[in-house]
Amino acid sequence: MIVGIDLGTTNSLVGVYDAGFVTLIADEAGQRLTPSVVYYPESGAPLVGRPASRMRAIHPESTVFSVKRFMGRRGGEEVSGIPYRVAGSAGSPLQIAIGDRRLSPEEVSAAILGKLKADAERALGVEITKAVVTVPAYFNDAQRSATKRAGELAGLEVVRILNEPTAAALAYGLDRLSEKTKVAVYDLGGGTFDVSILELTGGVFQVLSTNGNTRLGGDDIDAALVRHLEEACGFQAPDPAARARLLEAAVEAKHRLSDLEETVVSIPFLESGVSREVVLKRADLEKVALPFVEKTRAHCLRALADAGLEVAAIQELILVGGSTRMPLVRSYAGGLFGRTPNCSRNPDEAVAEGAALQAAILDGTLSQVVLLDITPLSLGIETFGGLMNVILPRNTTIPCKAGEMFTNAVAGQSSMLIRVLQGERELARDNWELGRFEIPFQALPKGQARVGVQFEIDANGILAVLARDTATGLEQVVQMTSAVEVSDEAVEKMLEDALENAFDDMNARVFTEAKLKAQEMLPSVTKALAVAGDRLDDFERSRIEACVDEVKKALEVEAAQQLKRAVANLDESTQTLAALVMEIAMQGAGPRRGG
Ligand code: ADP
Ligand code: MG
Repeated sequence: MIVGIDLGTTNSLVGVYDAGFVTLIADEAGQRLTPSVVYYPESGAPLVGRPASRMRAIHPESTVFSVKRFMGRRGGEEVSGIPYRVAGSAGSPLQIAIGDRRLSPEEVSAAILGKLKADAERALGVEITKAVVTVPAYFNDAQRSATKRAGELAGLEVVRILNEPTAAALAYGLDRLSEKTKVAVYDLGGGTFDVSILELTGGVFQVLSTNGNTRLGGDDIDAALVRHLEEACGFQAPDPAARARLLEAAVEAKHRLSDLEETVVSIPFLESGVSREVVLKRADLEKVALPFVEKTRAHCLRALADAGLEVAAIQELILVGGSTRMPLVRSYAGGLFGRTPNCSRNPDEAVAEGAALQAAILDGTLSQVVLLDITPLSLGIETFGGLMNVILPRNTTIPCKAGEMFTNAVAGQSSMLIRVLQGERELARDNWELGRFEIPFQALPKGQARVGVQFEIDANGILAVLARDTATGLEQVVQMTSAVEVSDEAVEKMLEDALENAFDDMNARVFTEAKLKAQEMLPSVTKALAVAGDRLDDFERSRIEACVDEVKKALEVEAAQQLKRAVANLDESTQTLAALVMEIAMQGAGPRRGG
């Protein structure tokens, strides 16, 4: 079993695909999001996640957060905005300094991955040794290798490094869209903003361009909201512990205001016995947040320019990252790309979901995403009476395989013509023929030959038709040369025609089916009357004769419904006759042997 992991700057998640859907794994406290925070006590094992977050206020110098920023980085580069120390001379790998200890960013990330691995193992009851881990699309080789090493340190083989926007697009099922679809992924997380333009090519997402800001996200909004609470609302935080409480209250209020129009921020005993309470409106928060949200605009425009695309070329906009839960961000991003964003997944879970899907594809639980295409029109063969017999209905997911058993219409027949058809019409002649071939089979009485016909469409949309005489095992496989793929216009025309002719088509099918049945019944009723007619009373015999006349009349005037009814009546009226014929036949065969 391979798990999918979103190793985020602010939050990390682990998910697994099983039996048709992705489950994101909750930890012992029931939380699916694990803050990407590690606290290193002076001695003993580090704390990871929520408990570590709590230590941030009290032991800022021993609590590492946002370590993702340092993955694959070298010393000597400017580092700001963190209370813990980093070390490492220019050119050598950057290290995090906690007291006398020196930790590589990989080691810190490994602590987070180790916690996710343990959560998954506890929830699933199996050992987990493999994972798909996501990284930002802009990560370079060094950053990707560092992520892989972090996995190894945690006892996880990283079987695939997956781009975050690609993972999100997978979670949204966008891989099922048509070729060349262009998708914008707008990801505003806690500390970073990324925008990526993807294009679906051969079922795989190609990153056309990526842009962003590694210092822009929900944290900025939090800090600005704290300032607002201090300056406009009179909250005072005299010491680090009080400041931590104020920040926590601000973040919680921000989250609530994504759903509510207003909320109360209240902090008891913030400063020497004084409690504070204020009503905060969504509009207040939006005023505070807008300048940060507006900063995403330039990045989006640059990403579009780098991809060589006008905004109108974008067909899908998906929002990723917890901060896109804010209505302000949703409408702003929607405005930038001129379309309503697709928000059907949880924005802070989409990346992990996509990673879990990719993991399932790699371990074979889920068929290759590349192949999740569909048949544009139904596929089938012509059967008795010139009818279309559908084997693969329209909109079947490719690759696919289905089959049906057919028999001979005529006694002594020794081959069958297989006409492979595509289309939605009831009559074979109104559909398109993709190909034809003969399958020979052993000559047998009518209805006793067994010819299996199987349709298989492979990953490339190529249809192969297999026909097998099940008596002899003799088979033929013919690959259709014309593709199953047809132009959108042709599909549309076929669907329109089918709709327009639906009534006539259905009538034709009913008539043909009833006619076949009538042609089978009439001679056998005549035969049965000759054998057992004298055992019926007059009333019953004349009733059967009337039904036979009714069938013949309906056949003559080609009235479908009338024929169908007549055939049913005939069938019903001959029940006794059929039983008598059976009885005579059994008497003729003598008493049954054995016992
Ligand atoms: P990252 O990808 O950076 O690890 P996430 O996607 O988990 O981070 O986003 C975390 C950010 O999302 C935080 O700033 C958090 O405050 C913000 N966030 C989470 N839920 C909400 C919400 N309901 N409303 C507004 N912001 C939210
Ligand atoms: Mg993220």
